[in-house]
Amino acid sequence: MSEAAGCIDLHTHSTVSDGMLSPQALVRRAATRGVRLLALTDHDTTAGVGAARREAESAGIAVVAGVELSLSWSQGWLHVLGLEIDPAAGTVRAAEGRLACLREERAVRIAGKLAKAGIEGTLEGARQLAGGGQITRTHFARLLCERGVSASQGEAFKRYLGRRGKAHVTTPWPAMEEGIAWIRAAGGLAVLAHPLAYRLTASRMRRLLTEFAAAGGEGIEVACGGYSRPMQQTCAGWALRHGLCGSVGSDFHSPDTPWNELGPRAVLPPSVEPVWARMAARPA
Ligand code: AMP
Ligand code: MN
Ligand code: MN
Ligand code: MN
Repeated sequence: MSEAAGCIDLHTHSTVSDGMLSPQALVRRAATRGVRLLALTDHDTTAGVGAARREAESAGIAVVAGVELSLSWSQGWLHVLGLEIDPAAGTVRAAEGRLACLREERAVRIAGKLAKAGIEGTLEGARQLAGGGQITRTHFARLLCERGVSASQGEAFKRYLGRRGKAHVTTPWPAMEEGIAWIRAAGGLAVLAHPLAYRLTASRMRRLLTEFAAAGGEGIEVACGGYSRPMQQTCAGWALRHGLCGSVGSDFHSPDTPWNELGPRAVLPPSVEPVWARMAARPA
């Protein structure tokens, strides 16, 4: 049993992407809730890492530079965490630039589709909510809630932003292999985020994990957000079968969603190698 897992959280978001807390406030909240090793993994940006690290010194917590890359695989999307990357690495700088362009283009198209559905002016609104950080669908969802168009973010995704929504757009995210290569070139470890989110059949999941490992992927999330015990066991089984490490992360965005709260969560089964065993950082 990995005794340290209870104080490790390797998947979190701040205001530089779609989280509600600043990097500093996130670090403080994590420290208060018992986290001793935290990775900041904002969507397609490492812009919050410097501030998080400065705060970590006084908060008595170790902060790992991370990112959650938006990538594509077999006509679908995937999220891959890059843990312990060098934010100054050329591949990270280039990836951030390219992904920011894709997000900008996508935001324009989402706003266009929303306008066609009679909801005007959402690009400006979403941009304002993003506050200079990456524009995500979460910002559009928050805007639709603020305007009273949708009753909840879940409803905004269902009706407008999700795969079957009126304002859904397909984005040509970079290929999974390319994203993994960027992470590795920046000295990081690539971890497949929330493996159950992609709703793949068993055979496609096998293919994905085979290709992920072959491309240099290091691990998959086993304990993630609100994953139940059986869900964690499924992910642990995949890790073992494909020779991948396991990771643990809340996917924290906001104090309002308790299932993604920062803090101690399930430990990995003893048979699964923890991804942090391959990292230089140690819990403070
Ligand atoms: P994006 O990276 O811009 O495509 O936005 C994806 C983000 O939207 C995810 O990281 C979640 O934070 C959020 N999200 C996705 N689906 C939902 C949903 N059904 N309800 C609420 N938030 C969601
Ligand atoms: Mn998010
Ligand atoms: Mn994700
Ligand atoms: Mn995430």
